[in-house]
Amino acid sequence: MSERFEIVFLGTGSPLPNADRCGAGNVVVAGDTHVLVDCGWGAARRLVPAGVRPASIDVAIFTHMHTDHMTDVPDFLFQRWTGGASTPLRVFGPEGTQEMIDGFLLALRRDIGFRKAHHGDKLHPDGITVQVTEVPATGEPLPFLAAGGLSFESFEVDHFPVVPAFGYRVRFDGRSAVLSGDTSFCETLATAAEGADMLVCEAMNAAMLQQVIGLLRFAGRSREAGLLEDVPSYHMPTEDVARLAAQAGVGEVVLSHLIPPIPNDTERETDFMAGMNATYGGRVRVARDMQRIEVSRRQA
Ligand SMILES: [Zn+2]
Ligand SMILES: [Zn+2]
Repeated sequence: MSERFEIVFLGTGSPLPNADRCGAGNVVVAGDTHVLVDCGWGAARRLVPAGVRPASIDVAIFTHMHTDHMTDVPDFLFQRWTGGASTPLRVFGPEGTQEMIDGFLLALRRDIGFRKAHHGDKLHPDGITVQVTEVPATGEPLPFLAAGGLSFESFEVDHFPVVPAFGYRVRFDGRSAVLSGDTSFCETLATAAEGADMLVCEAMNAAMLQQVIGLLRFAGRSREAGLLEDVPSYHMPTEDVARLAAQAGVGEVVLSHLIPPIPNDTERETDFMAGMNATYGGRVRVARDMQRIEVSRRQA
């Protein structure tokens, strides 16, 4: 029997506020190992309802330093400590990760003191401890972590002007999943995804985004409309996701980090994916917050 290898989707949205889709975050579950990948707004609050104990996570990995991928880090660190974690959290990510963690730890410093004063030895006396490793940016997948039979490789993607920004390839029990991070169509992602069992990919529905921009303009909110007009330059239209999945020959595609962040509505999700199967013949689905999806071996 094959071992458990799942992606738990904590947040499938983007910076745009949405009731159903939080900022980006996933947990890779491989056997007994839990690895957090990104922790955007609301993602830490999804852990317990999604069935993941914060203290069961000993490794956190970041794709890039955009807010929608990291502003729930303090909440996660706090939940992990009060949840009983007794070892330092190991953190990996691109250049900038150390600075981000240092800033959040500084923000929490006073409260850590208050909690220790109030709860005494019920909490680990070291407080919140984190060990950061910044991973170099490479085009070819670079192995940087092996834990419990699980291995992670990083590769640079194209999210300019966010440099560096990473995608990740994860292998476990003879299966592999590739997490795109935030990116435009790029060859490094297509190469890393070659033959993967699952591609978890960011996705933008350009027509739906244009509708949102039109509504904002109609409502006189031209500044917000203008900001959204900048979005397509560094994200991937669904047509490009399909093209990349076909080129790489991946087993299946799961869309996350949806732009715009549509509600949990099957019809809207079907509309979001419309046309993709004309290019890519495999299974495509839209993930929802707190959904668990098994990484299954691809059909030959
Ligand atoms: Zn993002
Ligand atoms: Zn981003």
